[in-house]
Parts: sequence; structure tokens; C-alpha cells
Amino acid sequence: MTILIRNARLIGRDGLWSILVGEGVIRRVSREIGGGADTVIDAGGGLVTESHVIPHLHLDKVDTINLVGDAALQHYHAGEMMSAEQAIRAASRVKETYAEDEIIARARRICIMAVENGVTHVRAFADVDKKARLTALRALKKLKKELAGVLTIDVVAFPQEGFSGDAENEEILMKAVEEGADVVGGIPWIEPTREEQRYHVKRVFDAAAQYNIPAAFLSDDTGNPEMRTTEMILNETEQRGWHGRVEICHARALAKYPEEYLKTIINKLKLLDVSIVVNPHTGPVVAPVKKLLENGVNVALGQDDCADAYYPYGRCSMLEVAFLASHLLRMMTARDQQLLYEMITTRAARAIEMKEHKIHEGAQANLILYREKSISELFRYQPKPVLVVKNGEITRSVGVD
Ligand SMILES: [Zn+2]
Repeated sequence: MTILIRNARLIGRDGLWSILVGEGVIRRVSREIGGGADTVIDAGGGLVTESHVIPHLHLDKVDTINLVGDAALQHYHAGEMMSAEQAIRAASRVKETYAEDEIIARARRICIMAVENGVTHVRAFADVDKKARLTALRALKKLKKELAGVLTIDVVAFPQEGFSGDAENEEILMKAVEEGADVVGGIPWIEPTREEQRYHVKRVFDAAAQYNIPAAFLSDDTGNPEMRTTEMILNETEQRGWHGRVEICHARALAKYPEEYLKTIINKLKLLDVSIVVNPHTGPVVAPVKKLLENGVNVALGQDDCADAYYPYGRCSMLEVAFLASHLLRMMTARDQQLLYEMITTRAARAIEMKEHKIHEGAQANLILYREKSISELFRYQPKPVLVVKNGEITRSVGVD
């Protein structure tokens, strides 16, 4: 199938452009492309961009807020996030009622919203532990198959409860990876001692190395400057040579680190090509995004939660996430807006090892078209795209011909 989009605006380029898509990839980007195609679309001066990517979402927990009450929300959003661990304990109750079908039903609804909002790829975290067993992982893997044509779901086996509370949790993580998780997850800061935190990081990397898969961590999701698991993850990344294959979500404690220590962390992040995924809307403390960006660290925005124990809203609209981040991070200029947009497209793609997510010749054709003409208008009006192309196929089309 070939698609020709004409009269499109592109970010960072003047004038109107044509884009030819064929056999799943972008064949040409040029001022004017002659000849026909199976489908020809007049963009009418609207903006064409890379599709949206969600590098961090707790997909098994979506729409569980009514089952958990307010206790976790209160702990997680209090002051400087010094009681975030209590929030995790309060939230874990919901997993006792997990069943594959009900997880699939909740997750499917959110994934369809994601597709309508122009998302083509999501890294979905599934809790695997004594409470959740392998139920969430299996549910999300089934959904991954079902939705493969419209949404790529990378399933992360995520040991939310840590290992030290119960050795069986560690075994369940290893089983989950063996069963075919796409990514191995970790949350070392949840362990009670530094020694156990280091052990947690090591075991996650053991699994990553054994199955040759990327690793995705939640680190230091707290305002406590004594939490130093980001550094542990970086050290292990270096030792294992896992450059470019590690994503660290949250790392909120970076905001509280002494200047010199923060500098060493930033240098390592850059050197090891480890991405940081921030979620400023889901907690009151956030890693120093501007400083990370200025120093060449890859930073992306995640959705994190949709109506669960930690966050009461969320609909997988990454424009909404970027709009909120624009306020929470005080990033308002045209340059800031472009950076925020990259954080939900190209930078988010880099965080999840999605190669070649750019509007240029030879790249995979994952792109979206809006009627609006600029990023500023997208943030302001929060529209849905009128066209979504995933791997060269049209997966959503509203009123375009
Ligand atoms: Zn999270």
C-alpha cells in the first residue's frame, strides 16, 4: 500500500511538503511529489508529525481508582513525597482481585483512547509478584496480540513489591521474563537496605542479559535525597555494557540531590545513553528536566497512570501530558514547546529502543496528521489527529480523503 500526503506542514521546516509512504516506510519527503499512490491525502496545510509514544504506563492498573479509595493518593501526593512507599503498600490491595479478562477489558478501553489520540507505541508495565502472580502479564500479552495492528504494546514484567519482602517475588519475575516479557522491569528503591537495592538491580540485569532484552526501572520515586538507586542502575549499566538499553522512570530524588552529586549522575546518564522518563503530573516532585536536557540527556514524558491509586485522571492523550508538563516545568516558549513535543515523540521513542522514529526518508512510517498548523495550536486546542499511519498502514482516518 502506498500513501501520498500532500500540502503538509512539518516541524522545523518552512512551507508545505509531500510525504510518500510505501511498504511500511517513508519513501520520500519533498516539496512536491508527482505521480499517484493508492491513497492520496490533502493535508490542507495541517501539521504532520511522528506518532506519539508512551514510554511508561502502568497498563494493568488503569481504571482501578474506584477499588482502592483515597489512601494511596493522599500518601503519594503529600508534601515532598516522603511517604510514597506507604502509597505503594496501600495500592497493592487491588491486585488480589486481578483476573485476566477484567484486566484486558480495562486496558483495552484505555488503549483505544491511546490510538484515537495518535499513540502507536506504548511500554506497558505489568506487576508480577505474589499478589498479581502472572495474571497481569498474561492479560497484557493477550491484548498486545489483539491490538498489534493499531498499537504496539511492549510488556514490561515489573516487580512492584520488590524482592526482600518475599523471595517468591524474585522467582515470579524470572518466570515472567522466561514466559516472554518484552522488557524486564525493576524498582530497587523499594528495598529496605542499600545492599538489597544493589542486589535487586543486579538481578534485573541478570534477566536482561540472559534474554537479551531492555531494562526499565522505576528509581527513587520520592523526594528523599538519600535515595541513590539511580546511581546503582547507572553503575550496573556500565558494567554490563547495556548502553542505550536502559530506561529510568521518575528518578524524582534527582531534584533534591546536592549540585556536585547531580553533576556526576547527569554525566553518567549522557555517557551511557540512559533515558529518563518523567511524569510531572503524577507527583509533586520532579527530576530537573531542563538541566538534564541542557546537558544532553534523553528525557521523555510518560503517562504513568490512568485513574489508579496514584493519579485520578489520564486518558492516554500525550498532548494533555505535554500541556500539563509545560505548566509544571514552566516550559512555555516556542523552543520549550518543541522540546516537550519531542518528549512525547522522538525522545520517547529513543527511550524505548524504537529505532528511526523521525519524519525522514527510510524511517518506519509512524506518523499523524492534524488540522492544526503548529505545536502551539496542538497544545492549546488538544485535538485528536485526523489521520494515523502505523507501519505504513492507515489505522485511523477522520474526514480526510
Ligand atoms: Zn510509574
